[in-house]
Amino acid sequence: MTDFSAGFSNELAALDAQALRRRRRVVDSPCAPELVVDGRPLLAFCSNDYLGLANDPALAAAAQEGARLHGLGSGASPLVCGHQAPHAQLERRLAEFTGFERALLFSTGYLANLGTVPALAGRGDAIFSDRLNHASLIDAARLSRAELNVYPHCDLSALAAALAASRAKRKLIVTDAVFSMDGDLAPLPEILALADQHKAWLLVDDAHGFGLLGPQGRGSAAHFSLASPRLLIMGTLGKAAGGAGAFVAGSDEAIEWILQKARTYIFSTAEPALIAHALLTAIDLIEQGDMRRANLAARIAQLRATLKPKRWTLLPSQTAIQPLVIGENAETMAVAAQLFERGLWVPGIRPPTVPAGSARLRITLCAAHTEAQVARLVETLTGLER
Ligand SMILES: *Cc1c(COP(=O)(O)O)cnc(C)c1O
Repeated sequence: MTDFSAGFSNELAALDAQALRRRRRVVDSPCAPELVVDGRPLLAFCSNDYLGLANDPALAAAAQEGARLHGLGSGASPLVCGHQAPHAQLERRLAEFTGFERALLFSTGYLANLGTVPALAGRGDAIFSDRLNHASLIDAARLSRAELNVYPHCDLSALAAALAASRAKRKLIVTDAVFSMDGDLAPLPEILALADQHKAWLLVDDAHGFGLLGPQGRGSAAHFSLASPRLLIMGTLGKAAGGAGAFVAGSDEAIEWILQKARTYIFSTAEPALIAHALLTAIDLIEQGDMRRANLAARIAQLRATLKPKRWTLLPSQTAIQPLVIGENAETMAVAAQLFERGLWVPGIRPPTVPAGSARLRITLCAAHTEAQVARLVETLTGLER
């Protein structure tokens, strides 16, 4: 063995020793509460398919129609010849639906953040980022070469002080709307007021709000009635929308600038038009999805009313993300393994995804879960904590 490969095996053994080795499982069924894994049925509380759309027959049919009309590949970057009619139509629909002048489609949310943040801020500028922001915003801030100011989670006075102290040319605040590992909401009206006061831009990552919050699921901006020429929203289409991809919405001028400058937009092949075609139907289902959102709200209320941990802590979240903090990595993974033996799949989340000492089960609920399924999860967890 070379020193190089020995280096990796030592590092991998170190991951094992800290209960930090990640493993994948092969799922043999479509995304739904009931999955087949290694031939075994499992009840899952893992996915971000919050409205149960990922395997909706109407969306599968729309994707087939999209494949018939447009084939599979887009063939090029949107700025060459990959920007096809369904992409253009979806961008208009997303702008209208979220209440912004214009939207720009990306292949994933990760790429949307990685392209947008450096387009808005560079050397000599400053970024202000919540400590619990998603990894894609953190990576994007690093890539931008702007000065990075990380403020304590949702701490408005720390954010205000950092903005006031900064003499950067351009200032950009970035925050998750719903925090992906905690499920809580950022105080967006107050953050936008600070942005306006300090002439800063605000980019809100609405990965877990789009489709769920606001009237007809129009997202966090509609939920809080936010409006400002300096506001941009990044929404993902692989979670509540049940498909894949993402968009950034904002003023005409800001979106035109991002289109000119975002390297992950310019130098990457456009997502298949069949996906954009199917997503047009997904947006209709989101818009008409009050029943789905009501089901989800009922399951959230049920879990919170019945799961009463003693040593563990259910974080105070009102969203589909219901984290049960256990603390140590090894105990968290042991509880996840015991659930798995009992036919329940709930992912254990460890550092660096969450701060050290706060390893947790990330329970995600969706509109397709039944009352009996949530009751089974609560009973099993209650039995395991004893
Ligand atoms: C999932 C997620 C992303 C990335 O979106 P993808 O489309 O999965 O790449 C970005 N931000 C947050 C907060 C997320 O939860």
